[in-house]
Amino acid sequence: MESTPTLKPDLLGRTRDRLAEALAPVVDRPFRVEQIYQALYARGVRDFAEMTDLSKDLRSKLADSFRIGYPEIKERHLASDGTCKYLFRLHDGATIEAVDIPDRDRRTFCISSQAGCALACSFCVTGYWGAGRDLTAGEIVAQVLAIRADRDLPMEGLNLVFMGMGEPLLNLANVKAALDILTEWISPHRITVSTVGILPGLEEMAAWERRPNLAISLHAPNDARRSEIMPINRTWPLADLMTALRRFPLEKGRKITFEYILIRDVNDDPRDADRLVKLLSGVRAKVNLIPINPDPVLGERMMPPDDGRVERFQQRLRERGLIATVRKRRGDDVSAACGQLRAFGRDPRGVRARQAAAR
Ligand code: SAH
Repeated sequence: MESTPTLKPDLLGRTRDRLAEALAPVVDRPFRVEQIYQALYARGVRDFAEMTDLSKDLRSKLADSFRIGYPEIKERHLASDGTCKYLFRLHDGATIEAVDIPDRDRRTFCISSQAGCALACSFCVTGYWGAGRDLTAGEIVAQVLAIRADRDLPMEGLNLVFMGMGEPLLNLANVKAALDILTEWISPHRITVSTVGILPGLEEMAAWERRPNLAISLHAPNDARRSEIMPINRTWPLADLMTALRRFPLEKGRKITFEYILIRDVNDDPRDADRLVKLLSGVRAKVNLIPINPDPVLGERMMPPDDGRVERFQQRLRERGLIATVRKRRGDDVSAACGQLRAFGRDPRGVRARQAAAR
């Protein structure tokens, strides 16, 4: 469906106070706001008609003035390992990805914070396709609600990671508003915000009362190589990032996760493991090694090391006292890596241009 010119305001993504403000013209008694809040999130109601604890008159007033902004499921890909990847279409036609990743004893939703990404990391398919707009708080929360509804799951017991499309710390106000709502049902201990390390954003997060877990996309052990594969490193280089992280308040027993995509002949040398150990000294860290998911748009240099080399890298970190895990590949058969699904729908002009240039 095309977006209508008169788009009604979305009720999703508003904290209680904001919801009360928005509803003031139609709702007479304060407890109605709470009823609606619970209906939206705890019950996952997506149609005002289902708010049967409200009068028919109020329901129709609500429907006249507001919408409940669920995204449209444009594509759904269920992998053989149970991973389910969604391509959502937003009201303005923007598309975003989210993934449901069931595991033995836990379940994680991976969600997006922007409809694209301006940071242009050379290993990332989302970055390859370029910038998109910020998602609203409602659009962030709605991804969780939409997957939950589609998979028929309760809100409790979920884990959330902001590892979909976009840089959450460049859309922090909306991420924060979404977290304020989501953390009423999902403990912040079960939520991870993944970032390249936007320093002003990290400072802001450090001051939050309820902080989610922090994951840093590191991917290289020194500035020269990090700047090469992550241009943002030129703005906020490693020394400043590490200083900010050493100051970042961590509750007892918590650690900062460092994501390190392993790329053959780029950052997988055993000496890189040693550099990594040195870089992370003095930080309560755990390292998550991620053999890169190759993709045609990334070019031929972006390939994973063989398993033995990955294992040796991990071993080297462990011998030097770092906690290091290797990320399990999930949803391979449905292109579950960042940006890959959305890219399918597109004309791969960039690839052709590159190939032409190489000829
Ligand atoms: N902008 C934020 C959130 C995006 S998620 C950030 O950079 O942290 C970024 C994560 O997606 C990376 O840390 C990595 O875990 C994953 N990722 C991106 N491209 C990938 C690829 N080609 N192969 C494997 N993982 C990838």
